[in-house]
Amino acid sequence: MDRSSDRVLIIGAGPVGLCLALKLAKEGVPSTVLEQLRDDNFLDQVPRAGTNHPATLEMYDDIGLYNRLEPRGIIAPLFHYWDRAKAERIAEFDHAVLKDDTRFPFALQCERIKIVEEALAMAKDNPLIVVRMGMTFTGFTQDAESVTAFADNETGETEAFKGRYIVSGEGARSIVRKECGIEFEGFTYPDRTLNIEVAYDFKKHGYADRNYISDPDEWSNLFHWKGPPERWRVHFPTQEDEDPDALMAPEAMQKRLQGFLPTGAPFNIVGCNLYTVHQRVAEKFRSGRAILAGDSAHVNSPIGGMGLNSGVHDAFNLAVRLGRIWRKEGDGSLLDQYDRQRRHIAVQHTQLQTIRNKKLLAEKDPAVRQKDHDELRRQSEDPNLAREFLLRTSLINSVREAAQIP
Ligand SMILES: Cc1cc2nc3c(=O)[nH]c(=O)nc-3n(C[C@H](O)[C@H](O)[C@H](O)COP(=O)(O)OP(=O)(O)OC[C@H]3O[C@@H](n4cnc5c(N)ncnc54)[C@H](O)[C@@H]3O)c2cc1C
Repeated sequence: MDRSSDRVLIIGAGPVGLCLALKLAKEGVPSTVLEQLRDDNFLDQVPRAGTNHPATLEMYDDIGLYNRLEPRGIIAPLFHYWDRAKAERIAEFDHAVLKDDTRFPFALQCERIKIVEEALAMAKDNPLIVVRMGMTFTGFTQDAESVTAFADNETGETEAFKGRYIVSGEGARSIVRKECGIEFEGFTYPDRTLNIEVAYDFKKHGYADRNYISDPDEWSNLFHWKGPPERWRVHFPTQEDEDPDALMAPEAMQKRLQGFLPTGAPFNIVGCNLYTVHQRVAEKFRSGRAILAGDSAHVNSPIGGMGLNSGVHDAFNLAVRLGRIWRKEGDGSLLDQYDRQRRHIAVQHTQLQTIRNKKLLAEKDPAVRQKDHDELRRQSEDPNLAREFLLRTSLINSVREAAQIP
């Protein structure tokens, strides 16, 4: 392979693909990022992730991204569980108890779109990273030594890119995963979630910047985002067969919001969308020279904010290994260990926890609800239990546990 093609091909300039490229560059490994969106529509993406946990903030800091994100986000040390029917706060958790575990004892509320905007600018400035926007990846081939990716440029012409490895950062619809014949095992919830963005100060009603609101009929998540405009996202469950237009009609959304918080005055709705939630993990994260990371390898409910975070953790785990391979300090078996470590976390942590999170919020049995709420209260009030709880929810434990897997 000639020197110019001895690089990693990364498909997708999402948070995972870009963090991978930046960490690879830090490891001295050149990469090419192929992104289907163009410079002129890259920022027109639907709102998605936004809660960044301490373990992830350490990684952003390592590649110089954290300092660019902090001014654009909200530092959120606290989060709450609420019981909607009783209009009562069940528990408040404070990341301050993690002060000896991390330099970042808080979550950063900073939306995915800001993360990719900043990371893309950094990648474009990095001499080890080639970014090609407006390139729609269509497939790839691999042999014993190399991979070749095919992508259509804006004029419709197909270009070929050669590299040593290919990493799918394409998100859930990964073509790499499909071409490798890797099953995406799991299930999809039949109902969709409605996201309404509202410019309103929920804090004056006692809410924290992040709130999980349990209710047997209509659970919610309530998250605060930095403006302009200063705004909050409220998530609501919907019925399986409800018409999207009816769900997102302004009067229907106002009615839902008034049911949630009866202010008597119309809310200033600044955006809305519907999304489908999947709980799936690829049966393996590697097939020869093709590797899956982020949503291409695992998808989950956003309750708990774990998809983007665990995807960035994949990217870092993988970049360190590819760095060692490039420096001839190890061989392809390092990538098998990536598969073992990160797949274990996806199955045993992310999937279990996010399924449990949704169940907890939506639980209908009053006795089970009471027991769950009592347990949350007990954990939040005891500093040792609260630390254990936050080590898990902030994903510090999952990174530590992965590192122990041989
Ligand atoms: C409503 C909602 C809220 C969420 N909140 C959180 C949260 O708070 N915290 C959290 O951790 N996670 C959250 N998530 C999940 C999170 O958004 C995803 O896990 C994360 O975006 C995955 O990153 P990724 O880089 O793997 O893929 P993506 O973000 O999907 O990026 C994939 C990139 O690849 C590009 N691409 C795709 N196909 C091609 C192709 N053929 N050729 C070239 N380029 C291609 C896309 O244009 C895109 O830029 C949330 C998700 C939703 C829906």
